[in-house]
Amino acid sequence: MLDLILPRQCGGCGAPGTDWCVICAESLAGPPIRARPRADPGVPCWALGRYRGPLRRAVVAAKEQGRRDLAVPLGAALARGLDGLRDRERPLVLVPAPSRGAAARRRGGDPVTRSVRVAGSWLDDCRIAPILRMRRGVRDSVGLGASAREHNLRGRIVVSADSLPDALRSSNAEVVLVDDVLTTGATARESVRALASAGIAVRAVLVTSVV
Ligand SMILES: [Zn+2]
Repeated sequence: MLDLILPRQCGGCGAPGTDWCVICAESLAGPPIRARPRADPGVPCWALGRYRGPLRRAVVAAKEQGRRDLAVPLGAALARGLDGLRDRERPLVLVPAPSRGAAARRRGGDPVTRSVRVAGSWLDDCRIAPILRMRRGVRDSVGLGASAREHNLRGRIVVSADSLPDALRSSNAEVVLVDDVLTTGATARESVRALASAGIAVRAVLVTSVV
């Protein structure tokens, strides 16, 4: 019945009758690829894939078109990537990269945190720490070049938590910053810097897609 009102479409390719088709799922099944952004965050960066095709459409649909359901396949793919990258002897802490408050509200929530929560639900010994926030005054980065993006973000990502989760204080924990798109690396670099200034050493960055 619901299909008649709101036909389901694959978030990656538009195929009818499913939220996420088998072909698009297969396109995300490989191991993460190494990414080397211009603004180097100083830790290894990994991506589930390139920002094109089904992956690009899915990221845009989750971010701009209110497709909350896509957090499920994207989060599961992040979990597979993390499972291959992590040291299983150590607890994992996932920190979602911050999004601009107004933008996230307009889109009905933060798609990165949503996907990270799904990923965390698949992984053993994993905590989520949504402690990064963007200060007011950060412009939408669409159309900005590398140096303008860095200038736009400098000093504007902060750790915002009354108390840091215990898992983050454990020197044994592997802290991974997670974002949806890696473009110039400016957000990742500023996020890693903000966490470092709070005494939190980030081990790696994992993004859904790299431009
Ligand atoms: Zn598809």
